[in-house]
Amino acid sequence: MGTLRSAAPVRPTRRRLAAGLALGVAATLAVATPSTAAPQDHGHPGRGGRPPVGHQLPKVAVMTGSGGAVSSVDPVASQVGIDVLRAGGNATDAAVATAAALGVTEPYSTGIGGGGFFVHYDARKHRVQTIDGREAAPATYDENQFRNADGTAKDFDTVVNSGQPVGVPGTPATWERAVDRWGSRRLSTLLAPAERIARDGFVVDATFHQQTLDNAERFSTFPETARVFLPGGTAPATGSVFRNPDLARALRLLRTEGVDALYRGRLGRDLVAQVRNPTTTPGTSVAAGEMTTRDLARYRVLDKDPVHSRYRGKDIYGMPVPSSGGTGVGEILNLVEAYDRRTGTKTSDVDAVQYLHRFSEASATAFADRNRYLGDVRGVPVRELVSQGFADERSCLFSATAAMPRPLPFGSPDGDYADCGTATASGVLPHDGTSTTHLSVVDRWGNAVAYTSTIEQTGGSAITVPGWGFILNNELTDFDFVPVTPGVPDPNLPGPSKRPRSSMSPTIVLDDGRLDLVAGSPGGASIITTTAQILLGHFERGLSVGDALAAPRLSSRNGTSEQAEPAIADGPTGAGLRALGHTITSTPEIGAATAIDVGRHGLLTAAAEPTRRGGGSAMVVWPRR
Ligand code: GLU
Repeated sequence: MGTLRSAAPVRPTRRRLAAGLALGVAATLAVATPSTAAPQDHGHPGRGGRPPVGHQLPKVAVMTGSGGAVSSVDPVASQVGIDVLRAGGNATDAAVATAAALGVTEPYSTGIGGGGFFVHYDARKHRVQTIDGREAAPATYDENQFRNADGTAKDFDTVVNSGQPVGVPGTPATWERAVDRWGSRRLSTLLAPAERIARDGFVVDATFHQQTLDNAERFSTFPETARVFLPGGTAPATGSVFRNPDLARALRLLRTEGVDALYRGRLGRDLVAQVRNPTTTPGTSVAAGEMTTRDLARYRVLDKDPVHSRYRGKDIYGMPVPSSGGTGVGEILNLVEAYDRRTGTKTSDVDAVQYLHRFSEASATAFADRNRYLGDVRGVPVRELVSQGFADERSCLFSATAAMPRPLPFGSPDGDYADCGTATASGVLPHDGTSTTHLSVVDRWGNAVAYTSTIEQTGGSAITVPGWGFILNNELTDFDFVPVTPGVPDPNLPGPSKRPRSSMSPTIVLDDGRLDLVAGSPGGASIITTTAQILLGHFERGLSVGDALAAPRLSSRNGTSEQAEPAIADGPTGAGLRALGHTITSTPEIGAATAIDVGRHGLLTAAAEPTRRGGGSAMVVWPRR
């Protein structure tokens, strides 16, 4: 997001900001439009002819300073979080307010129709805890849900654009639980800036425009989605103002009636009616979903301990099952350490080709294990998967001079680590999404939040709940439709009230008990590799957090080929990797990460993407001059 920048940002006074927040008004006023012409308006005029909501701090990829930090993909949303921090709110307050704002400005990636994972560090208690706000399947689903009568998998895209993949949303309940546990403000106050952005609008940037265009065809299958997101029959132009008064109304309802309006009230009834009988343009129809109001009422977010692993003496905290993020990132880092010992050369000292070779081998290995063991089932061997003993055993396949043949077999995380475990190779790459959004927050007290939220694909199921302005997720397509490897148990088949496996990897790193780094990314299964690569870039290769985000990415996930961005794939590094036997395909961009580095003396460096997805927005409360 983001094309607007006030020509001369005015630093607001504390009092004005506090007053703005108390009134539910994000104090983000002056907005310059990218052209000299007045921005074209979509939807209804802002109430009282109010201007669209902008941001005061500039949209930059790296900002250093103090007083708290927020990094997200969008400057309007980051500014909301900064305003909360500046007015005395804590990291949870800012994360929830920013997430709600992202639901307005990034409605194809996140929002109240989706789910996510919230990882929190409490600076006073020195404790990391998580909330699992993943969407859940209806109680009637079983492992045949996405199969044809002959047992084959249903067509993926047909399922996506229907009521069938819509899981019970977890996002509103996540916000409520996070604020109850760790917040210092009322949820109704924290959702006010988002309501205002929905009502008064924001200036459309090239990314929003393009995402709408890319989805225009499937959006037009659903008249309500077309009405809200294709005003005038087309994607809102870059530089125009986009307002979503229906979403403002939904947010107002959540503010005044609480999130039960969705889980037990009229918003929920409308949602269920639409899932069970999606409204499509005349002459077309899509499959109905099975969600009931009982599924909504029974939904709970879950407090969970994080996955904890150790790497270079640091404590890495990530998300547990049903995410494969915490174990995936932890295993990759452990494998890289194991390769150091096995080769006698440190990953920090090797050249770019050898570094990416190691990273690729570690990632492919971790994905073989993830695909075999991770899912929303009992008995996932989480502790073993992130143990150094398991990584040491798994590293026995590694060669510094040749890529391991793909697909790699999965290992045996059984606590008995003598030699190489072997088993059936798993050759099918589970589906990847490309959507989602990650935000990182640190407050002045050193509390931190890493929060990744999603509606799965960019544009989710493409179904908008009539009158409420938000798109429903298609998260249940994250289940495997059929077993990944015939004859091998697959923990990620659909089941009653089950949560689909995720790759989302909101990550918090502590160093000797001190908050060190907050990070995460969208990008489907590549989330795991992107997050691990940022950590390795920073801790192993000595890159600043900004440079670690900007560095070209590679994603190897145990398929016969691996993706790399052009700076790797199309240059000498790619040639070097190919010479080792890697099959590399060039892909324009991988991930859209955010991170915050906490320096030894508390200096905060917020980092976002310089260019991917149009660039993100890193902000701190008091920028260093
Ligand atoms: N649904 C994906 C997951 O939970 C995220 C989607 C994406 O980032 O594209 O892993």
